[in-house]
This record gives sequence, structure tokens and C-alpha cells, in this order.
Amino acid sequence: MVYTEPAFAKLNLTLDILGRRPDGYHDMRMVMQSIDLQDTVTVTPHPGPEIQVSSDLPYLPRGDGNIAAKAAARFFEQTNLPPSGLSIDIRKRIPVCAGMAGGSSDGAAVLRVLRRTLRPDMSSKELEEIGSLVGSDVPYCLRGGSVLAEGRGERMTDLPPLPPCWFVVCKPPCAVSTPELFSLVRMKRLRFHPRTAELISALEQGDLEGIAVRLYNVFEDVLPRRYAQVFEIKGRFLELGAMAASMTGSGPAVFGLFRDKPLAVQALEILRPQFPSTFLCELVGRAVYN
Ligand code: ATP
Repeated sequence: MVYTEPAFAKLNLTLDILGRRPDGYHDMRMVMQSIDLQDTVTVTPHPGPEIQVSSDLPYLPRGDGNIAAKAAARFFEQTNLPPSGLSIDIRKRIPVCAGMAGGSSDGAAVLRVLRRTLRPDMSSKELEEIGSLVGSDVPYCLRGGSVLAEGRGERMTDLPPLPPCWFVVCKPPCAVSTPELFSLVRMKRLRFHPRTAELISALEQGDLEGIAVRLYNVFEDVLPRRYAQVFEIKGRFLELGAMAASMTGSGPAVFGLFRDKPLAVQALEILRPQFPSTFLCELVGRAVYN
């Protein structure tokens, strides 16, 4: 049998860092949203013990280094099921190292396939616990929709869906180092924090304007000067009629939030010649994940 599963990207409507924990991780508070920019993950069992990964990006790890392979290995280890050989193929559309959890989403897609085929009785909570051993964003990528994620990202609260809207996501060609950003957070006091509770109230009221004015990512406050394109793109989105714009995760991808599709399409067409990794995206609700 061959199992094909979508792996959706995420955006951070908010990203807040509350402090550093004794275990070295940071305490986070984030409102996450899944969007329809997706990788396609195909899992084919085969005889023999190996887990191999192929993809259309030659530089992605093919073996244990790939998050999709790590997820499969953790699944067998945690369930005590005899490890089965797997060929995992990933058609990559989510930009890599962009702050959109592409690798985590591929890992989550593999976990969903393995649960469905080998342990259909396993609860979502149990699967999310296995996910948290693979990576901080994997539990969210298993669940999808609009979610408040806290702690390392494993403490999740489902939120009401956003009102209908459009995102244009634009990834500039610079690469941001996540560990570097976290180290800068330690050195520099954060000047602002997102008003997460107010954003959640706006979500509960279906108030898109109220959501838009509360998008905020604390990493923007510590971005070194060489990532100036992030702010350039944010400015362009606002000029092009976005209700708001923000960086997602540890960047450098930036998104603009639009109420109307024509303005979003126009922003896509204007930005894409300069930034080829620009995408028009819609919301993906939790139901798609089941
Ligand atoms: P996050 O938003 O969770 O911080 P990201 O978007 O910044 O994630 P990814 O694209 O998920 O980053 O992964 C970045 C790193 O993980 C790269 O160094 C890449 O080589 C490695 N990696 C391993 N497996 C994958 C995969 N399946 N897809 C993408 N990257 C992968």
C-alpha cells in the first residue's frame, strides 16, 4: 500500500517568549494558524528495517537527519511496534528554514499515517506526546487549525477559527538562524509583547480587524540589521492594502493578512517578480486533519 498525506504550513499570528526555563528551552506563548501551502508526503512500507527519505530538494537529509524519518523512528520506539521499513517521499512546497514549520509538518504527516495504519486506537494526546519528542512544533502540526500553544509548544488550547480571510506569504532569500535569534532575546530586553488574550477575544468575536491589529512576533524586535528585507516586505504589504503584516516563527517569511481576495492577488503579483517564494494562501481548519 501507498499512503499519501498533506503536510500543511503554519503561520504565527502571535509569538511571545515569556522566559528561559531551567532545561534551556524557552517558555513560549503563540497563536498558530494552519494554511493551505502544503508539502505532500507519501509513505510506502517495504520489507527490511530501513527508513529512507527522498524529496525534490536534493539538499534535504535522506536518512535519520530528516524530521520525517525521526518521526517514524520515534513512533516505533514509543509504541513498541516492530520497526517496519519505510520509503518516505516528500514533494516540498513549504519554504525550508522559513519559520513555517515545514519539516515538523512532514514529521506530523508521517505520524498521522502510522497511527491510522498501525495503531488506529491511539488517542490524539498520545500521538501529540510522541510528536513532542520529535520537535517543538510537531504537536501543533498534528492538530492544525487555530491553536494557542504554550510551554515549548506542547500545551495546546483549540481556538475558534478565523473569519474568512487571505494570506500572502513572502519569504525573502536571507536565512535566519533560530538559535541566534533566541540568544539575542536573552541579551536584549523585549520592548513589546503581543496582546495574546485580546487577540483570542477578537477571535471569539469573529472580529478580523481586532485580530489584524494584534498580530505581533517578538523576534522582530531582535532581528539583526542584515534581515532588513523582513521590514521592507512588511511595509510593502501595508502599502498594498494588507490589514496587517507580521513575520512568522523565527522568520524570515513574512505574511500579509487581507480581507479581500483581489487585493491579496494583486500583492502576490507585485511581490512575486522580486521574491519568487511568494504564495497566496487560505486558512486550513482542523477538520481537514482528521
Ligand atoms: P520552524 O518554523 O518549526 O522553526 P522552519 O520552517 O524554520 O521550522 P524547517 O524548514 O522545518 O525550518 O527545517 C529546517 C531544517 O531542518 C533544515 O536545516 C533542514 O535541512 C532540516 N530538515 C530535516 N528534515 C526536513 C524536512 N522534511 N523538511 C524541511 N527541512 C528539514
